[in-house]
Amino acid sequence: MSTKLLFMESFDTYTAHASVVSVSELEDRLDVVLDQTCFYPRGGGQDYDQGVITAGEAVFQVSEVRLDDEGVVHHYGVFESGAFDAGVEVEAAVDQDRRLLNTRLHSAGHLIDMAVDELGYDWVPGKGAHYPHMSNVEYTPVSQKTVERPSSQKRPGAHFSDIDVSSDTSLSEKMHSKHTSGKLGSSKVSSETGGGSWNADDKDTIIADINRLISAYVEAGGTNEIRFMPPEEMGSICRHVPDNLPTNKPARVVVYRGDFGVPCGGTHVKDLSQVGGVTVDRIKKKNGNIRVSYSLNDA
Ligand SMILES: [Zn+2]
Repeated sequence: MSTKLLFMESFDTYTAHASVVSVSELEDRLDVVLDQTCFYPRGGGQDYDQGVITAGEAVFQVSEVRLDDEGVVHHYGVFESGAFDAGVEVEAAVDQDRRLLNTRLHSAGHLIDMAVDELGYDWVPGKGAHYPHMSNVEYTPVSQKTVERPSSQKRPGAHFSDIDVSSDTSLSEKMHSKHTSGKLGSSKVSSETGGGSWNADDKDTIIADINRLISAYVEAGGTNEIRFMPPEEMGSICRHVPDNLPTNKPARVVVYRGDFGVPCGGTHVKDLSQVGGVTVDRIKKKNGNIRVSYSLNDA
């Protein structure tokens, strides 16, 4: 039976009441499975939570959390005191400082998505790494993606990531007019640096543009919203929907600032202002993808 993922239902679920499904002995630690959990398992480039699971005097220190293909969350760790077994009611509590840092790092990656989109680059978001020592987001230029995957080789359901949403005039216009009519108006991109192309000479300009927009987003703030919806409906609110959405998590979109949907199972800030200062340090092309590296100014 899959574990209910409580961290997906709100922005700040740090504690949970749960019952123990199983406690298994591994070589050097234990594996605790609960019926529901607030612990985020590593995934989507975001690191796992740590924390404790307690039942009376029994304290289980969670050092690592993983989600398996069946949607079961495994809390790995050791008992610091006492013990509990299957059937026991427990309280789970994540280390909030660690979670908040991971959440801010993750959300910072989506602020870069927003900036890339507002600047008019036709880059399709790919994988990201949102670790304190290594934070980056990768993009595939649309033109290149099209070349890489001819229509005859498309898998069923692959159509989402291949849609160039900019060809959907109404949505594109709506989104762009929303952006450019806003207070952050000085973001018009020149024809030399826009589009899906990539020119190493533009690197410094792109970095400066993205940094300027991100800091404006954080300054202005804006509330995010969680929406569960089938993947086939995500195109209405998300500019890019990947064709490899995880099947072991509920399908969910987080709408940034009310107008920028991201299909994502990670944890996110509730308000953009919570991300704090972010700096894009580097952009480089790696294996045909554009990698944007960044860091939080206070971490
Ligand atoms: Zn995400």
